[in-house]
Amino acid sequence: MPAARTITRYLYAPFMLIGLNGLGYYFVVNGWSYVWMALPLAIAVAVAFLAERASPNYEQWNDSHGDGAANWIHAVVYEISNVNATLLIPVIAWLFPFEGLWPRDLPIIVQLLIAVVFADLGFTLVHYFSHRWPLLWRLHAVHHGVPRLYGLNGLVRHPLHQTLDLLFATGPLALLGMPIDVAVLLGLVVSIQLIVQHSNVDYQLGPFRNHMAIGQLHHLHHVNWGKEGDCNFGLFLTLWDRMLGTFQPEPSRRIQAHDMGVDEVPDFPKTYWQQLLFPFVYQPGAGKQTGLRPQPSAQAALDKTRALPSDSAAKRGRERPTPAE
Ligand SMILES: [Zn+2]
Repeated sequence: MPAARTITRYLYAPFMLIGLNGLGYYFVVNGWSYVWMALPLAIAVAVAFLAERASPNYEQWNDSHGDGAANWIHAVVYEISNVNATLLIPVIAWLFPFEGLWPRDLPIIVQLLIAVVFADLGFTLVHYFSHRWPLLWRLHAVHHGVPRLYGLNGLVRHPLHQTLDLLFATGPLALLGMPIDVAVLLGLVVSIQLIVQHSNVDYQLGPFRNHMAIGQLHHLHHVNWGKEGDCNFGLFLTLWDRMLGTFQPEPSRRIQAHDMGVDEVPDFPKTYWQQLLFPFVYQPGAGKQTGLRPQPSAQAALDKTRALPSDSAAKRGRERPTPAE
């Protein structure tokens, strides 16, 4: 329906980023229980699902890829880990009983914006090194494995990789004395951002297009074109990518629906337990996943790759992470 498509294109991002985060903010500043954060989060998942039907980037990304069950488990585990990390904040305050440097006197909304900008720096750096260091890439590849983008796979993270995010992006803020109200809001804002960043919705960002790390900028990050996707690592803003020199506004060619995923693992494991094990059996750059038997089509692709001279294989972009970098 054209009207639904138009409404979705223009209102999806403002509704999700301002409306739902605003709802969470209302709950917190009015002293409602933190349990109410589940409401904007649930609405975000539901609206992303509906918007993906009304205005998809690619129809094919709406088709089940056999990954639904695993992605739901990832999403639940992701949110439980966030709650657990927030519960640790009083423990951190108890272990490090100094006043902290956090500007507690500023309005909550300003504290939240400060938290978002500096957490974004931590997320960007963890993400940047996850594409540089093979050990981290093994963990992060679980997020890139699904050969499509849609709302739920924003929350697909290996739990060990999520722990790194919590340690290096939100952990320093907790050490600086970030109050629990702000931490709870930050958790909501990050979750909704991940859903928007990965949702298969053709939305308009207008003048913010090259300043927010969502939309096509993030599609480019997920392409399976060798190293071409090693850019646009930010979660919220393009600010930190611009400073790192990794901001890339345009793809070198039109992105197609089948351009997502990990190039050397075309048949990425589909079950949650296989994905949990994946980092421990995956050999980055070797084009194989020891211990997990690839599907026949993947095996054929891998055999074909091995038959090529090694420099040709590199030119074809099969070797995404380069251990020496
Ligand atoms: Zn990535």
